[in-house]
Amino acid sequence: MLAMDIKLIKEIIHIFRENHSFLITSHVNPDGDAIGSMGGVYYLLKQFGKEVDLYNVSGVPDRFSYLSFSKYISTFLNKNEYDCIIFLDCGDISRAGEEIKKIKKQITINIDHHPTNNFFADINWVNPNMSSVGEMVAYLLEETKIELKGKIAESIYTAIVSDTGSFTFSNTKPTTLKVVMKILENGFDLDDFNRKYQRYWTINKVHFHGMAMQRAKLLFEGKVAIISIPMDLMKKTGCTTEDCEGVINYIRQIRGVKVAAILREDDDKIKVSLRSWGEVDVSQIALELNGGGHKNAAGGSIFLPLEQAEDLFLNCIEKYIS
Ligand code: 5GP
Ligand code: MN
Repeated sequence: MLAMDIKLIKEIIHIFRENHSFLITSHVNPDGDAIGSMGGVYYLLKQFGKEVDLYNVSGVPDRFSYLSFSKYISTFLNKNEYDCIIFLDCGDISRAGEEIKKIKKQITINIDHHPTNNFFADINWVNPNMSSVGEMVAYLLEETKIELKGKIAESIYTAIVSDTGSFTFSNTKPTTLKVVMKILENGFDLDDFNRKYQRYWTINKVHFHGMAMQRAKLLFEGKVAIISIPMDLMKKTGCTTEDCEGVINYIRQIRGVKVAAILREDDDKIKVSLRSWGEVDVSQIALELNGGGHKNAAGGSIFLPLEQAEDLFLNCIEKYIS
C-alpha cells in the first residue's frame, strides 16, 4: 500500500465517523465484488452506529442471496437526501444509474480499482493495483480494528474470490492473499462458503450455456472468440441476464485466443463483455464502446441491432489484435 492509500483510508474513516446518514451503491448488473464490497462497508457503518441505506439499480442477483445483508439492498431510493453517498466498484458515476444523481448530499466517496475511473466524486480512492474493491474495504475495516469474521468475512471473501477468478488472475497480489489469510485464520468455513457461492446452478442455466456455446465463433486466425446471445435464446431456456455470467470464461480458454467477447442483446442495447490474456488491453476497446474496465476484463455497450453491433465490434477490435 502506498502513502496515498493510507492517507485516503484515514480520510474516509474520518468522514464515516463525522457523518450520520449514508447511502451505499455499486454498479448495474452487480458482480461479487460490487455486492461483497457493499456488505463490508455496510457492516462497518452499522458498527459505527450509523443510518445506512443500500441501493443498486438492478438489485441483487439471486446467487448472492446467501449474503444476508443483501436483502436490504433496494432498487429504489428511499430518501432524497443523505450526508454521504459511497460508490463502490463504479468506474463512472453512470454505472450506478441516473436516479442517484438527483440525490442531495454533502459529500461523495468513490472507492474503485478500475484504471478507467474518471474521479467523479469529492473523495476518490482509486487504485488499479487492488484486486477488488472488497480488498480495499478490508483495509478500511483493518483501520477501524473490526475483525474479518463472520458475515463481514463472507462479504469480503465473495468480493475477492469473484474478481480474482478464485485467485488465478494476475491481480492476485501477495497482499490480497494476506487479507485472505486473515479471513481463514479467523475460522472461515470454505466448504460451507463454496456450497453457497458455486453450487447454485439450475438445469435451465446448463441448457442455456450449452446453446450459447454452440454459437461460439473463432475469428482473426483464432485470436478472437465471440458469442452473440440474442434475447430469444435466454427466453427459450427460461434464463435471464444473470445466467449469462460465466459463458465468457469457456471461450476464453480456447487455445490461442487472445480476446474473448460476448455480445448480449439487452432491452435497449447490445451489452459487450470482454476478456483477454496478457498484453491486449480490452479496457481501451471498451472505452471506444461507451464503457470501460480493466486491462484483461472490460465491458461496454453498442446501440445497434445485434448483427450490426457484431460488425461494428469486429471493425473496432481489428487494430488491437494485429
Ligand atoms: P463484465 O464483462 O463482467 O460485465 O465486466 C467486466 C469488467 O468491466 C468489470 O470490472 C466491469 O465493472 C467493467 N464494465 C463492464 N461494463 C462496463 C461499462 O459499461 N462501463 C464501465 N465503465 N465499465 C464496465
Ligand atoms: Mn471490481
